Amino acid sequence: MNREPLVMVCTCEMAGRVRGKGFPVRELPGRMGKGVGWVPTNAMINAFSAIPGTPFGTGGDLILVPDPGCEVDVDFADGSAKEHFFLGDIRWLDGRAWELCPREFLRRALAALQDAAGVRLVAAFEHEFTYTGVEDGPGNPYSLEAFRRQGVFAEVFTAALRAAGCEPDSFMAEYGGRQYEFTVDVAEGIRAADRAVVAREMARATAHRLGHRAIFSPVLDPAGVGNGVHIHFSFKDAAGTPVMHDPAGRLGLSGLAQHFVAGILHHQPALCALTAPATISYIRLRPNRWAPTHANLEQQDRAAALRVCPVIPGPNVARQFNVEYRVADGAASPYIALAAVVWAGVDGIRRGLAIPDEGPALPASLDAALDALEASQAARDWMGESFHGAYLMHKRGEAAMMAGLTEAEQCARYAATY
Ligand code: GLU
Ligand code: MG
Repeated sequence: MNREPLVMVCTCEMAGRVRGKGFPVRELPGRMGKGVGWVPTNAMINAFSAIPGTPFGTGGDLILVPDPGCEVDVDFADGSAKEHFFLGDIRWLDGRAWELCPREFLRRALAALQDAAGVRLVAAFEHEFTYTGVEDGPGNPYSLEAFRRQGVFAEVFTAALRAAGCEPDSFMAEYGGRQYEFTVDVAEGIRAADRAVVAREMARATAHRLGHRAIFSPVLDPAGVGNGVHIHFSFKDAAGTPVMHDPAGRLGLSGLAQHFVAGILHHQPALCALTAPATISYIRLRPNRWAPTHANLEQQDRAAALRVCPVIPGPNVARQFNVEYRVADGAASPYIALAAVVWAGVDGIRRGLAIPDEGPALPASLDAALDALEASQAARDWMGESFHGAYLMHKRGEAAMMAGLTEAEQCARYAATY
């Protein structure tokens, strides 16, 4: 059969889904500048393909413009169409950034960090997921048996990651039934979030070719452990020197880092709405699941919102030193989640906030997190009025669709999407 290759331009908006439009690869030169047409209300399509409400109506036109530095062109060499897409930015027709563009939200946060402290953010995302191509078995957590049972998935996935420009770091069988985890290497700024988006899609693309699914939903079984997304971060100054670590500082954190994490803890309730944005995210965030339950910072504690990660003593301590944000999951757009963390940290730097001794409990539901987001003037300022309002409308509509369903039913609905 004759085939003509296509390419897509994609974004990852409030629903955390990668969406976009495709066209013939031969049109690419002309499309690099003008992109593809996009619609404001697309941002309001929720996890369940519904648009319970929209401030934008059916009108308006935007463009989704490819970032030339963010092309994924991966051939699985199995005869299937290549995974060929660009991640890009949503703009007005005249080229100005659209206020709700998730990459722009992150770009502005990183610029604010640069402005407040003269540092650049370095980050790596760790993703947990459920692979449907294996059967659960007793005694499987972290086992060689569970590693073996996923067959060729991990190797095909690793090749795809590398071909997609995401340096693979590790792959393992996790604690939960059929649960696995991978990490890709650190990258700077927006690239770290781009990598998170691409890496998840490579996992889905690999599973798809093997006739299965990689599911990143926050939790599949209300009684089981969840799939977390852990965001590791640190800072570099203009000369590239790591500036997160001070052996004399609290938990080894430099003064700058202490203010940054204090900002995250201070804004944690509102952040939850942006980083743990599904109703079932709050099933994951319950006690005894290796997931956080409080807005707290701890040394090497996996039940903390922020974990100061271990370092191997030696000359490279400052370079290894990083903090992990654990209140995120796969329902969140990596751009929005990382931007939210950075904005909160910047506020901590600007206001010179100190780390509290004890953090309050995390919101117990998406509704409670959305109330905190709605009440947060700071979040309103970070996001801008239009994005803030649209986000609340989007997520309140999603929560309303889940109302009345049992936890197991909600888990099933989210698992079908993520
Ligand atoms: N599955 C846990 C979570 O939901 C994390 C387990 C771990 O520490 O890797 O965040
Ligand atoms: Mg893990």
